[in-house]
Amino acid sequence: RFPIIAVLGRPNVGKSTVVNRMAGEFKTGAVVEDVPGVTRDRTYRLCEHNGRFFQVVDTGGLLFDDDPQNVFLPQIREQALVAMREASGVVLVVDGQEGVHPIDLEVASFLRRECLDATDGSSPPRVVVAVNKCESVRFGDAQAAEFWRLGLGEPIPVSGIHGGGVAEVLDRLCEEI
Ligand code: GDP
Ligand code: MG
Repeated sequence: RFPIIAVLGRPNVGKSTVVNRMAGEFKTGAVVEDVPGVTRDRTYRLCEHNGRFFQVVDTGGLLFDDDPQNVFLPQIREQALVAMREASGVVLVVDGQEGVHPIDLEVASFLRRECLDATDGSSPPRVVVAVNKCESVRFGDAQAAEFWRLGLGEPIPVSGIHGGGVAEVLDRLCEEI
């Protein structure tokens, strides 16, 4: 079994597009495991980068429900924790065109607590912030820089639809896992 990368983020930031890039670009995007249930199905896809293999899981509705009233229900949060507990890495996808959203701040503080500040001797997953929709040559870097505010290290500008930056996200994961 390869290290698991959990992809988190609120709806419509482009998680599925980024996951397709991570898996599809390397032509090894086979579905290797399906776990039905939880909020939605969890699909694990094989991803290869520089000879390293990962299983990428698009957590879809694990951390959020599409109904904004249901954001961060305790049981949804619990499911996110379960997904993260098995992960070696977390990619937090955010929307560079919308900028920092209050939910991004909420999730970031959750990840800082669970991953960066863990003091229970566990080995929490490494976190990489992927700022999606940054295909603009003029604005992409500035859009990404705004997300330093999340306190999760250097944000990486990416474009799921164009593919830019996705290799950098994988480089970072390879360095840290
Ligand atoms: P998810 O809900 O987080 O899985 O988001 P999706 O992958 O379904 O994408 C949501 C919307 O954002 C779709 O309309 C995508 O076409 C669009 N989108 C995804 N990636 C990009 C990107 O890199 N740039 C732009 N401009 N739009 C994107
Ligand atoms: Mg999706």
